Amino acid sequence: MSEIQNGQCGLCTHFGEEEMPSEKLITIRSSHQAPENLVETCGHPKLVALHLMVTPISGCSGFQAAA
Ligand code: SF4
Repeated sequence: MSEIQNGQCGLCTHFGEEEMPSEKLITIRSSHQAPENLVETCGHPKLVALHLMVTPISGCSGFQAAA
Protein backbone atom coordinates (compact mmCIF):
# COMPACT_ATOMS: atom_id res chain seq x y z
CA MET A 1 0.00 0.00 0.00
CA SER A 2 1.09 3.57 -0.70
CA GLU A 3 0.68 6.36 1.84
CA ILE A 4 -1.06 9.34 0.20
CA GLN A 5 0.02 12.84 1.18
CA ASN A 6 -2.11 15.98 1.00
CA GLY A 7 -2.00 17.38 -2.54
CA GLN A 8 -1.67 13.99 -4.21
CA CYS A 9 -4.19 12.49 -6.62
CA GLY A 10 -5.63 9.96 -4.19
CA LEU A 11 -7.07 12.80 -2.12
CA CYS A 12 -8.22 14.87 -5.11
CA THR A 13 -11.86 15.15 -6.10
CA HIS A 14 -10.92 14.43 -9.74
CA PHE A 15 -9.21 11.07 -9.04
CA GLY A 16 -11.30 8.29 -10.60
CA GLU A 17 -14.08 10.84 -10.77
CA GLU A 18 -16.09 9.11 -13.47
CA GLU A 19 -15.19 5.47 -13.20
CA MET A 20 -14.14 4.29 -9.76
CA PRO A 21 -16.93 3.14 -7.44
CA SER A 22 -17.38 5.76 -4.73
CA GLU A 23 -17.07 3.21 -1.93
CA LYS A 24 -13.50 2.51 -2.99
CA LEU A 25 -12.76 6.23 -3.22
CA ILE A 26 -14.11 6.85 0.26
CA THR A 27 -11.88 4.10 1.67
CA ILE A 28 -8.82 5.62 -0.02
CA ARG A 29 -9.66 9.14 1.16
CA SER A 30 -10.35 8.14 4.75
CA SER A 31 -7.35 5.85 5.15
CA HIS A 32 -4.90 7.89 3.03
CA GLN A 33 -3.72 4.58 1.61
CA ALA A 34 -4.16 2.86 -1.75
CA PRO A 35 -2.76 -0.19 -3.55
CA GLU A 36 0.61 0.57 -5.16
CA ASN A 37 -0.52 -0.66 -8.59
CA LEU A 38 -3.73 1.39 -8.71
CA VAL A 39 -4.10 3.62 -11.79
CA GLU A 40 -7.20 5.73 -12.40
CA THR A 41 -8.45 8.43 -14.71
CA CYS A 42 -8.22 12.11 -13.86
CA GLY A 43 -11.48 13.98 -14.32
CA HIS A 44 -10.08 17.53 -14.16
CA PRO A 45 -11.86 19.59 -16.85
CA LYS A 46 -8.53 20.56 -18.44
CA LEU A 47 -7.22 17.00 -18.52
CA VAL A 48 -10.24 14.75 -18.99
CA ALA A 49 -10.09 14.98 -22.80
CA LEU A 50 -6.56 13.60 -22.67
CA HIS A 51 -7.68 10.55 -20.67
CA LEU A 52 -4.79 11.10 -18.31
CA MET A 53 -4.12 8.10 -16.09
CA VAL A 54 -2.67 8.78 -12.65
CA THR A 55 -1.68 6.88 -9.54
CA PRO A 56 -2.81 7.82 -6.03
CA ILE A 57 0.59 9.38 -5.35
CA SER A 58 0.73 11.42 -8.57
CA GLY A 59 -0.24 15.08 -8.51
CA CYS A 60 -0.63 18.38 -10.34
CA SER A 61 -1.44 22.03 -9.64
CA GLY A 62 -5.10 21.37 -10.43
CA PHE A 63 -5.50 19.46 -7.16
CA GLN A 64 -8.81 20.02 -5.43
CA ALA A 65 -9.32 18.34 -2.09
CA ALA A 66 -12.14 15.82 -2.10
CA ALA A 67 -15.04 16.62 0.21
S1 SF4 B 1 -3.76 14.93 -11.93
FE1 SF4 B 1 -4.27 16.77 -10.72
S2 SF4 B 1 -6.45 17.13 -11.05
FE2 SF4 B 1 -6.00 15.02 -11.70
S3 SF4 B 1 -6.46 13.73 -9.93
FE3 SF4 B 1 -4.28 14.25 -9.84
S4 SF4 B 1 -4.13 16.11 -8.57
FE4 SF4 B 1 -6.28 15.87 -9.21
